[in-house]
Amino acid sequence: MNSAGFVTVSYIAATILFILALGGLSNQETARRGNWYGIIGMAIALLATILGVVTRHYTILIIALLIGGSIGLVLARRVRMTQMPELVAILHSLVGLAAVLVGFANFMDHSIGFTGVELTIHNIETYLGVLIGAVTFSGSIIAFGKLSGRIGGKPLTLPARHWLNLALLLGAIWFGREFVQQGAVGSGTVPLVIMTVIALVFGIHMVMAIGGADMPVVVSMLNSYSGWAASATGFMLSNDLLIVTGALVGSSGAILSYIMCRAMNRKFLAVIAGGFGTGGGTAAAGGEIEGEIVAIQPEETAELLANAKEVMIVPGYGMAVAQAQHTVYEITKVLREKGVNVRFGIHPVAGRMPGHMNVLLAEAKVPYDIVFEMDEVNEDFPDIDVSVVIGANDIVNPDAQEKPDSPIAGMPVLEVWKGGTTIVLKRSMATGYAGVENPLFYKENTRMLFGDAKDSLDAVLKTL
Ligand code: NDP
Repeated sequence: MNSAGFVTVSYIAATILFILALGGLSNQETARRGNWYGIIGMAIALLATILGVVTRHYTILIIALLIGGSIGLVLARRVRMTQMPELVAILHSLVGLAAVLVGFANFMDHSIGFTGVELTIHNIETYLGVLIGAVTFSGSIIAFGKLSGRIGGKPLTLPARHWLNLALLLGAIWFGREFVQQGAVGSGTVPLVIMTVIALVFGIHMVMAIGGADMPVVVSMLNSYSGWAASATGFMLSNDLLIVTGALVGSSGAILSYIMCRAMNRKFLAVIAGGFGTGGGTAAAGGEIEGEIVAIQPEETAELLANAKEVMIVPGYGMAVAQAQHTVYEITKVLREKGVNVRFGIHPVAGRMPGHMNVLLAEAKVPYDIVFEMDEVNEDFPDIDVSVVIGANDIVNPDAQEKPDSPIAGMPVLEVWKGGTTIVLKRSMATGYAGVENPLFYKENTRMLFGDAKDSLDAVLKTL
């Protein structure tokens, strides 16, 4: 087989494996297999590209691969599950940066002998690749800053922000026309550079305007952008695999953003337009919460659980911080042996990334058949004797339903307060990610078990 044939066959194989990977990742039971399809697909893609497409400069390539691979390996080993969204955000920024750099390199490469329509198409590809890449790059860096707490979570709402966005968009279109109209290869540097600056500013402004509570949507949206940036790069380089892979990432990211918007009852466009969600501690204003806080001790908690028939465990970000998932499962096993029906109710945005809780529970070997999505169990709370909310806050906040001016108004929540007793494990009365007070903690049938979730649960397990 000649080199081009080898590359084409490998690329088709890689594409099929990527599609199988996405299919596998959509379900917990097949996720592991899906991951392997992805790894094998990427290995084939890399090998085919190195052996079949890159014909010179092997030394530089191998050095770059070793440096990049080592950094990736060290980062991935070091990162904790709770920091995953940050890692994903910063990796998206690299995809964006790569698209910008490839775009400029392509633009400066005068050996490409395009003329007429071909040149126009090539210029549009370059322009779009740099545009999407630059938005992804700067937007992802801001998302990284917000998720890692380096930048506050409060949305930046400039008075005329929609007009500013519109002006930036029109500017990008106008300079695009300028760029494409420069007939000769290599001319048009000025509009390209100006557009790059516009796109960088747009990326920063877009993510700065989005509040903490909407960050999950932003991360998956930037995931989608990074896919489209890669796809545009594929067009620039006439690389079919990059086009297809980019489109797969782009569309799956867009679908995920849509699903998450639905889970949080947000309109996608409204999230992008920004101004939603708040930073920490801003939303305490707006009326006193009635009721008293009643604390509970691990011993009483164990007793309540042991005497219950129906128990619902609602994990949140705090369970991930405390790494309490293994103890949670130990408790679950003991209770199930006593004949208690224990189930898990998972909110679609519990934790700091979609599927965060499912991954932790799977790691602790909690059987899949007792782990349910919010919609599957939300009607059952009136029949639940004891709900255990482990380090979750926003996702069980009744204000989302009852207070129309709350920043999280309209977000679907797990209705734990409708059950018999709700035990909430957290360390203090601090707010959650969205920075809003939670009246659940003051309800008559709520008991607060203060302390690190792992320590509290260890004590509960001991008593049980
Ligand atoms: P929250 O951030 O609302 O609440 C987590 C709670 O855990 C805090 O109130 C904190 O209280 C408690 N906590 C932290 N550490 C510990 C510990 N060691 N032991 C016990 N408790 C602890 O998390 P939720 O999961 O309820 O909600 C997710 C939020 O994150 C939503 O607002 C969502 O929009 C947002 N988000 C979700 C993403 C996703 O895709 N899933 C991505 C980005 C953001 P205290 O400090 O008192 O202990």
